[in-house]
Amino acid sequence: MRIPSGKIEEIRAAADIFDVVSGYVGLKRRGQNYFGLCPFHTEKTPSFSVNPQKQIFHCFGCGEGGNSISFIMKIENLSFVESAKLLAERYHIQIPESKETDEKEKAKLALYDVNRFATDFFVRQLWSPAGKAALTYLQKRHFSEEVIREFELGFALSSWDALIKEALKFGFSNEQLKAVGLVIPNKKGGYYDRFRERIMFPIHNVSGLIVGFGGRILQDRPDSPKYINSPETAIYRKSRILYGLFQNRETIRKREKSLLVEGYADVLGLSQAGIKNAVASSGTALTTEQARLLLRYAPNTIILYDGDLAGANASLRGVDILLQEGLQVKVAVLPEGSDPDSFVKEKSVDELKIILSKARELIDFKIYAFTAGNPLQSPQQKAALVNMLAESVGNIHDEVMRNLYIQEIARRLNLSETVIFRAVSKKKRFGKKQEDSVPAMPAREIHGVRFQAEREILEILLRFPKMIPAVYHHLELDELKYPEHRQVMMEIYEQYVNTGRINPQHVLDFVENGELQKYIVAVLVKEEEVAENVLNQWTSDCIRSIKINNLHIKAAEARTTLKEYEIKKNGKKVLELSQTYAKMCRDIEQLKKKVFLSGEEERL
Ligand SMILES: [Zn+2]
Repeated sequence: MRIPSGKIEEIRAAADIFDVVSGYVGLKRRGQNYFGLCPFHTEKTPSFSVNPQKQIFHCFGCGEGGNSISFIMKIENLSFVESAKLLAERYHIQIPESKETDEKEKAKLALYDVNRFATDFFVRQLWSPAGKAALTYLQKRHFSEEVIREFELGFALSSWDALIKEALKFGFSNEQLKAVGLVIPNKKGGYYDRFRERIMFPIHNVSGLIVGFGGRILQDRPDSPKYINSPETAIYRKSRILYGLFQNRETIRKREKSLLVEGYADVLGLSQAGIKNAVASSGTALTTEQARLLLRYAPNTIILYDGDLAGANASLRGVDILLQEGLQVKVAVLPEGSDPDSFVKEKSVDELKIILSKARELIDFKIYAFTAGNPLQSPQQKAALVNMLAESVGNIHDEVMRNLYIQEIARRLNLSETVIFRAVSKKKRFGKKQEDSVPAMPAREIHGVRFQAEREILEILLRFPKMIPAVYHHLELDELKYPEHRQVMMEIYEQYVNTGRINPQHVLDFVENGELQKYIVAVLVKEEEVAENVLNQWTSDCIRSIKINNLHIKAAEARTTLKEYEIKKNGKKVLELSQTYAKMCRDIEQLKKKVFLSGEEERL
């Protein structure tokens, strides 16, 4: 879906940065700006600033920055469109939508309403006389009312159509109930409730919308599974959901660490014990999407494993995916026979904290689990271990991290790095995945003169809009080499041509590259004045540097072609090209002396 740019404008005008941020961060005035504790990194003294004049936020600690829409994107983990919509809703701005997407979106949004309705219904049942047995069960397991309410636990009655009847009464349709997997068609063309006599765990996505349910049987029966879950639906993709992330996301972000457990009850039990950074995958193997989701909130994760060492070793293969996506993974093991929930209730939180503090790095743990703590017996055993570890490490996208792990394994096993490196290379899959990790900009060029000159031209345009006409006069869009720089410049030029002025902070909406966005904000918060003559020379130098570099590239190309014709002995072409090449060299020499700005140019 696209939001018309006029609407974006309207949203931005309404969603004042101070107003938006103060909904999340306590702000105190200091001079022109407001300061508060940064929500994106842990700190004790405020370095997070909001500038109402420029309508931007910027953290001097971690470098995060942007406008009101990007603030929502970051803090709520939403896309640009989702954030704009959220703000539109908050500030009562109607967004016109095309008919077709309108219908589809509406139908999809209605499914969340169905789940919300069902959740409320299940919650009501749990706290009604009909839910007494279920509530007693939860109390026996020592779940507090607070945690039951926070996670919106409910109860599905022992009935074939209690939910259906109630939902129809409230205007929902059988088709909608089926679309979210709450009912199952019967042979007579009707439907029956999927969840019966079960304790209901609603599953929230990161925005807090309910996408599905897990249902635990109240009375264990051999003919019924202990847990059943909603099927995959248009709004429930199991591979993208982590149970508990919605409730615990702020703590995970603050503590920079998540805790991976197996069951819903574990997330609840830990939360109740004050450990509010646990998440669980819904009984499925971990996926790439889940790993990336976790990484968006925190770089570290501890897998809290309950079970024996041998079992751990086998099931830990599934968690390599976390390593591959760049998470720092540790493993902690509970004593046999206890799970996180029962452990904190039977023992204590402090004991659990001790176990967590002793968590081992994943690789370290794998070695430990493989050898069961004993020294390695035979060369064969060592080779098998190297192979297993190579498999874990081989798919880590980040080359630096991969090499660090290789060093670590070599050190731990007392083998040479070359041996490990070769084993890892053999296991490495060269799939499409690897391409994803290639940065948009080649790292070695980041501090190149050319790159720097383009960045500085953008800085000049954003900080000193009066310079736009002069730069516009001398520098064409396609003279910039980096596409993301070109995009920013295009935005500035377009605003200037269309309106005769620019709003520097609006440019941020068109920047997808996070690093570039931070750069722009850092530029926008700069307050120092620059003397007119210095500014002229600075601008002139940047333009010159870009133009010379472009000519150098062209000259190099001409030289290569020239060489080819020399080999082919094509005299005519050789003559032609040598003249072109010579002219380019002369042009470069002239450019070096050229002053682009005299100070006489038009200024905004
Ligand atoms: Zn910060």
